[in-house]
Amino acid sequence: MQDIQLYEQLLGLSGPWAVVRVTMKREAQEIEVEVRCLATVWGCPTCGKQMQGHGQEERRWRHLDSCQFKTLVVCAVPRVRCLEHGTQQVAVPWAERRSRFTRLFERLAMDVLLECSVLGAGELLGISWAEADGIKQRAVARGLARKPVSAPARLCVDEKSAGRGQNYLTIVASVAAGRSATLEYVGAGRKRETLDAYWQSLTPAQRIGVEAVGMDLGEPFFNSTLAHVPGAANKIVHDPFHLVSYMNAALNEVRKAEHRSLLEAGQRTLSGSKQLWLYGEENLPAERAAEFARLKGQKLQTSRAWAIKELFRDFWDCESVAEGRHFFRRWYDWAIRSRLEPVKKVARMFQRHLDNIVTCFQHRLSNGSIAGLNNKIQSLVKKACGYRNPERFKTDIFFHLGGLNLYPSPQ
Ligand SMILES: [Zn+2]
Repeated sequence: MQDIQLYEQLLGLSGPWAVVRVTMKREAQEIEVEVRCLATVWGCPTCGKQMQGHGQEERRWRHLDSCQFKTLVVCAVPRVRCLEHGTQQVAVPWAERRSRFTRLFERLAMDVLLECSVLGAGELLGISWAEADGIKQRAVARGLARKPVSAPARLCVDEKSAGRGQNYLTIVASVAAGRSATLEYVGAGRKRETLDAYWQSLTPAQRIGVEAVGMDLGEPFFNSTLAHVPGAANKIVHDPFHLVSYMNAALNEVRKAEHRSLLEAGQRTLSGSKQLWLYGEENLPAERAAEFARLKGQKLQTSRAWAIKELFRDFWDCESVAEGRHFFRRWYDWAIRSRLEPVKKVARMFQRHLDNIVTCFQHRLSNGSIAGLNNKIQSLVKKACGYRNPERFKTDIFFHLGGLNLYPSPQ
């Protein structure tokens, strides 16, 4: 008798639900808690209309272990037949609909899943990989359904590689001033249609309310935003982070070509110097400063490309659109006369997109605000050793970084 009361309290049961039997199966190391409901009239789980029971169905749920014993709740759940919503099982207080786990077990499983892989969580909890994965998928669906509809004014769009094959995701993050970036949308692929789907999920009024959108120079995101956000021509910002990375790629190309021709002449001047050139000047490690100063002092094409890249980084110190245009003109003239093809190519590309580069001085939107989020996504990819399936990558981003309310409600 005592164990019946104990389990009634542990499961938080009251009203028509009562524990009628507790069976310990010593061999199987299991405890089975049988619950019965004593009511005769039930609410339809969809509309709440009261009606008579219409048969029942035996179900089992995994609950938190009782010491070393796996614990299962067993109940013949009444069904109702609603004229409008058909035959359904009534809602039970200890579990969400369709779940094979009690709410308390799901909470524990999610805490474990937040700390380790699906495989590891399954092993720790004594459930299958598919079951652990199902708990994660349901949590994300639950969190997304609860996510308040917001209309972010300042956004950054970016693509993320899944680390395997050609799998990419499109990420949209909201970057409200003074707050860390929050994830708004994740879509499979990096085509125009992927971002279209996000814009189309907003109301026309929400799209009008968008003030600034940061992105790289690629056409798909640009065209999608232009087509969906009124006044986008003045709202799109090609952010500093992406532009500097184009410059770094050009610099790297110059270095590689020069290194090759130096090697052919038997000179190892540029060996092992790749990273030195890519550091922002202020981030150069102190112990390599002397080495870098020596390299920089030589008449190398690479050091010319480096100086052009470093000057470009000062661009963002400009204080207005007009000042920015003036600065760019001087920088561009230097870059275009550099006789370094990769640098000239990037300079011309910047020139073509200048109108949406200088918007930066109006909106002060920088990808720096989503750098934290980007790093966290990167470490998910690393931990998973890359994602073969973009849907799984998407679920993991929402599960770990979505800022969603994932837990099942207490009842
Ligand atoms: Zn109904």
